[in-house]
Amino acid sequence: MSTTTKAPETSSTKADKPQTYGNYINGRQVKSKSGETFDSFNPANKNEIIGHFASSSPEDVKMAIDAAEKAFHGWKHTPAPHRAEIILKAAHLLETRKEELARTMTREMGKVLKEARGDVQEAIDMAKYIAGEGRRLVGQTVPSELPMKFAMSVRQPLGIVGLITPWNFPIAIPSWKILPALVAGNTIVIKPASDTPLCALMFVEILNEAGLPPGVLNLVTGSGSKVGNAIVEDPRVQAISLTGSNEVGRHVAGRCGQLMKKVSCELGGKNAICVMDDADIDLALEGALWGAFGTAGQRCTAASRVIVHKARYEEFCEKFKKMTSALKLGNGLHEGVEVGPVVNKAQLESVHEYVEIGKKEGAKLLCGGNILSEGEFANGFFHEPTVFCDVKPDMRIAQEEIFGPVTAIIPVNDFDEAIAVANGTQFGLSLSMYTRDINRAFRAIEDLESGIVYINAPTIGAEIQLPFGGVKQTGNGHREAGTSAIDQFTEWKSVYIDYSGRLQKAQIDTDDLVGKE
Ligand code: NAD
Repeated sequence: MSTTTKAPETSSTKADKPQTYGNYINGRQVKSKSGETFDSFNPANKNEIIGHFASSSPEDVKMAIDAAEKAFHGWKHTPAPHRAEIILKAAHLLETRKEELARTMTREMGKVLKEARGDVQEAIDMAKYIAGEGRRLVGQTVPSELPMKFAMSVRQPLGIVGLITPWNFPIAIPSWKILPALVAGNTIVIKPASDTPLCALMFVEILNEAGLPPGVLNLVTGSGSKVGNAIVEDPRVQAISLTGSNEVGRHVAGRCGQLMKKVSCELGGKNAICVMDDADIDLALEGALWGAFGTAGQRCTAASRVIVHKARYEEFCEKFKKMTSALKLGNGLHEGVEVGPVVNKAQLESVHEYVEIGKKEGAKLLCGGNILSEGEFANGFFHEPTVFCDVKPDMRIAQEEIFGPVTAIIPVNDFDEAIAVANGTQFGLSLSMYTRDINRAFRAIEDLESGIVYINAPTIGAEIQLPFGGVKQTGNGHREAGTSAIDQFTEWKSVYIDYSGRLQKAQIDTDDLVGKE
């Protein structure tokens, strides 16, 4: 969470006082030109300030892009295996600092400590995986249609890339973008979400500590409209990779279209778990609980719909209500807490508004539904895990991304209806099917319209070695992670080498070449 204030003159170094952090430009922290800062708070206790961060302007962005521009030539010409060595070293540094990073993350955005450790682990996994790409970055060699001619394609970095990230995976998501961009030889300006600037800054500093030359990786904090926009608009930035809401994605993709800039957008979801009559119900219940309320429902892959076959509907609802009501809500640093706060006041209000919408639409509130503001919850942004049942597929709570601890149970008559309902939103990120019938499982894999499909597992839990992203309004056709991560950050160059010593013409009748040199 954040607000804008006037900056104190100097950074505090006392452990008990929040520090002031600068932008990270050209290998060091620097104050914003205006000297203004904004604060990051703990959403479990808004009285706890995490730090004061640079409230930057387009001038600060220009400084960061200048640094990235200067560093590009040297970084591009650093052999990829050497670039990868730095990334591998960063993986080891991240391992040694995992607990510190995880605790900072829980304090800065609220997810429970176990999940915060998972977030950092994802960055470690990504670093190890991407370090391997340094010795691959594969191109193609193909036969030429002409004799004594060699044909191949190689990958080239794009140049300076602009990365814009959300708060819900404050280290993992920056890692999905930064690491492939680096190994491919690009230089970077990243703007993290204003709710989680410290996590991003720590990650960037660790990569620099691992040996990145100054200027290769720069970070500028501040608002989307000022900082994000300035990155998008600068003609020296060759590509934008954004993860965020559909509203911001549409705006950024639109501008990039006008500027003829490469852009990849990973946006919202309205994910669903389908539970069939032949499913292992206990397994499905456990999966739905984790899928709906992990990270307090603030995952782009959160299971915000559970589509249940009528034959198991009553049983599912009854058990799910009990399990949801038993979830322990609280400060994510505390032992035994399963669901933390939502990230800020605006998010809390938005989530609660959807609860009111659900009631007005005639859905049945099975459990939860309240903002908690007494006792241990008094200073945080806590919303009860909430379940609606008897939800109709066209209700707003079944169509729009809520991004909080709210899920909607929708009854269906059969498998085909479950697939139709699962597919019946504008989004297409992650869909899941619980069934013990192998034929149904494969039909689901074929017919579910989403970038990610799970069988007998919830909608959350992607691994970094496979592509990550969605279809329809969830994205614009790109994928992060896996080998596809490299595609976002490289340009193909096709190379022809003619060693015949004479002019050879391609794309003409070559019959006379058969059997000749
Ligand atoms: P958001 O769209 O509000 O912000 C995302 C980033 O864009 C932030 O850094 C923000 O400051 C910046 N931004 C805002 N306006 C901008 C502008 N005009 N120009 C440039 N940058 C701008 O999203 P959020 O609230 O931080 O994150 C939640 C959203 O992210 C949800 O919709 C969620 O589904 C989505 N998300 C998607 C994925 C995925 O991989 N598909 C993963 C995580 C989160």
